[in-house]
Amino acid sequence: MSDSTVSANNFLHAIIEQDLASGKHSEIVTRFPPEPNGFLHLGHAHSMCINFGLAQKYNGRCHLRFDDTNPEKESQEYIDAIQQDVKWLGFDWDGEIKFSSDYFDTLYDYAINLIESGDAYVCDLNAEQAREYRGNLKQPGKNSPFRDRSVEENLALFEQMRNGEFDEGACALRAKIDMASPNMNMRDPIIYRIRKIPHHQTGEKWCIYPIYDFTHGQSDALESVTHSICTLEFEDHRPLYEWFINHLPVPSKPQQYEFSRLNINYTVTSKRKLKALVDDGVVGGWDDPRMPTISGMRRRGYSAQAIRNFSDMVGVNRSSGIVDMSMLEHAIRTDLNDNAPRAMCVMNAVKVSFTNFEAANAEGGIAWMTQPVHPNKPEMGERKLPFTDSVYIDRADFTEDTTLSRKKFKRLVLGEYVRLRGSFVIKAEEAIKDADGNITEIKASIVPDTVGNNPPEGMKPRGVIHWVSCSEGVQAEVRVYERLFDHEAPDFGGRDHMEHINQDSLQVIESCWCEPSLAETTPEQGFQFEREGYYVADRYDYTADKPVFNKTISLSESKGK
Ligand code: ATP
Ligand code: MG
Repeated sequence: MSDSTVSANNFLHAIIEQDLASGKHSEIVTRFPPEPNGFLHLGHAHSMCINFGLAQKYNGRCHLRFDDTNPEKESQEYIDAIQQDVKWLGFDWDGEIKFSSDYFDTLYDYAINLIESGDAYVCDLNAEQAREYRGNLKQPGKNSPFRDRSVEENLALFEQMRNGEFDEGACALRAKIDMASPNMNMRDPIIYRIRKIPHHQTGEKWCIYPIYDFTHGQSDALESVTHSICTLEFEDHRPLYEWFINHLPVPSKPQQYEFSRLNINYTVTSKRKLKALVDDGVVGGWDDPRMPTISGMRRRGYSAQAIRNFSDMVGVNRSSGIVDMSMLEHAIRTDLNDNAPRAMCVMNAVKVSFTNFEAANAEGGIAWMTQPVHPNKPEMGERKLPFTDSVYIDRADFTEDTTLSRKKFKRLVLGEYVRLRGSFVIKAEEAIKDADGNITEIKASIVPDTVGNNPPEGMKPRGVIHWVSCSEGVQAEVRVYERLFDHEAPDFGGRDHMEHINQDSLQVIESCWCEPSLAETTPEQGFQFEREGYYVADRYDYTADKPVFNKTISLSESKGK
């Protein structure tokens, strides 16, 4: 995007434009800093759209940095999945992938710097004592009895911490700031703790690890990040972020800005809570189509563009609120309506056989019908549909009840007419039943010359229904997904999301019948199954021999999710 088209439409744009105009920065650098302790979710998608989006808009750079200071919860599996998700969403990071652990040596030196300037000390209080000394929002804290250790003693103890000479929890390195600060984050926060576990990047090298607050800002500074954008929970950490930057010989001075995190109803956006769903087998995995993870949404058939559009609709602001799921669904539906090829699939089939198939003028048993791939996009081409002596229609599209008004039932009624989409007008002549009275077959007649033409006067079709040739159609499995939670706010106010699982969130329809072209598509291709909804060929399970489709979303909001 050229500079002349750049326009500020949120507060971050305004800040950046001012920083560029004043010459404070000549180039902006942002970063997206996931902790590799789970798969990315919708909240992260929003954060990526903001961080990568700013770099794109202002011709700057955005780094991907794994914020990996908690090795026990992190893994290579997550590192790989996150990279894949970033790319799929349509973004690319500047330069090499970064890890906070790349800076462990420098951070260690910074810690020594603080000790040398009298701004950090090794504290031997145990967790419980430290909590007591910390005070609370009403009461100031008390100075640790170890606060006045000499620089030499602190240097020696920190060295011993590093060499593994103390047990976990025996001591920690703390910044010496202000135990009476009204901001709890400033009450001598821990900056290094002992953790005797190997790290996925640094192996056995360290048994002490810097905590997040000590790591994040310095990593930003080391990468020349100009605008470090995070969610509002970190607003109270900003003074600490700035304290470190101002007390350390960092190579640049990044500035932290906060925006409100994306909260959306009927789901949870927390890696920890999503992990519980995976670990307990509530879903099939992180990329289960019911998950609000990026990989789950992908498998569900949401496009990257639609997710990015949704993020734009939500916008960037500092007031927290809960976004309605229908807003996401609207973005998904609009995108699919515009872009998805049309196809026909019969979910609950009943056979219709024609008593006068000769009227179809078939050659070799097939009369080929032609339909546009997309009704409003001729450039997407046409598709051929084989019409044969029997077809499947949906059971719900036929009734023997001739009393139903034309307005109420715009489908096939015994003795009446209906149009088969893109094909002939037909008349239902007879319903054949088994011993239990279930309809097993419908006998129908073809009204000749009605492909693309109206039938003669007096034969008024009630409506248009979809169909698939019995002999040429292919059998498919369709997986229908509903919301994963039965509560609007499954984790709000201490509610346990695991107790609000919708037990009917997955329904598998084993044998649907779909038009033959659906056996020749590729995994992840989305479709509108006419009159049914939007569906996507499953990323993993779809094959030509056994097509598997996931329901992405219904055609309209009123028809359920
Ligand atoms: P989680 O609780 O799911 O682990 P997190 O914020 O701890 O979320 P990180 O991996 O630390 O996850 O986050 C990476 C980036 O994504 C951070 O900048 C964070 O602020 C941002 N982010 C995470 N969740 C949201 C959200 N719901 N809305 C906006 N940004 C988010
Ligand atoms: Mg986190």
